[in-house]
Amino acid sequence: MSELTMLIDTTNGVMLLEHSHLSADVLDKFAAIAGEGKECGCARPLDVIPAPITPDIQTEEARVRIAGYYHNSLVEGPGRRSSALFQFCPLSCKGCWVPHLHSPDSGQLVSVTTLAEKLLDPSFERDGVSILGGEPFAQSESLLALVKELRRAGCKHILCYTGYTLETLARQAETQPAIGEVLADIDMLIDGPYVVALAGGAGAWTGSGNQRVIDLCETRRTGRIVLY
Ligand code: SF4
Repeated sequence: MSELTMLIDTTNGVMLLEHSHLSADVLDKFAAIAGEGKECGCARPLDVIPAPITPDIQTEEARVRIAGYYHNSLVEGPGRRSSALFQFCPLSCKGCWVPHLHSPDSGQLVSVTTLAEKLLDPSFERDGVSILGGEPFAQSESLLALVKELRRAGCKHILCYTGYTLETLARQAETQPAIGEVLADIDMLIDGPYVVALAGGAGAWTGSGNQRVIDLCETRRTGRIVLY
């Protein structure tokens, strides 16, 4: 059966269309009425703002390598999100649709303080910040510094994506304490690699059906994995 979900963002007038199994003919007819669309999704938004230039970075200041950031995402967690795209991913999920985020040499090193300021720009509405990539936990010290800075600046809800499972991250935390500190602080985790064969079973915020949306607050409180 074909399904079509249409969402009009009243903040910026953008129409978000999610569909399954609609024929090319139907989509062409839709485009004739509503205009040509652009494909977007988790980690592949319509417009990425380049990494902020921070020429006055102090050597001791925490920095993170990112590809950019953006606001008004409705597909990367609950509500409206401001999102950061971390550069670099050591995983090689077959069919990954953001291969330009894999290299550790691309993107730009930016001050964590500057990035947090940009993500929390008061001229944009948001329900929280999402951190994705790339693999955010591959820069665990920088990720922790960003999470701390976002909290210090009053960010109430932080969600991280990862290609690792929570169980794998918990093991990595035994030798990389920053990973454990991030998991002890953030509100939600969307975990697991992208599995192209399961892409059809993806949820609203995930790329494939194996990925879990984990409520980390409840998980910490109950001591067992609680899905959102
Ligand atoms: S973890 Fe994400 S960015 Fe990395 S290869 Fe898999 S899908 Fe791509």
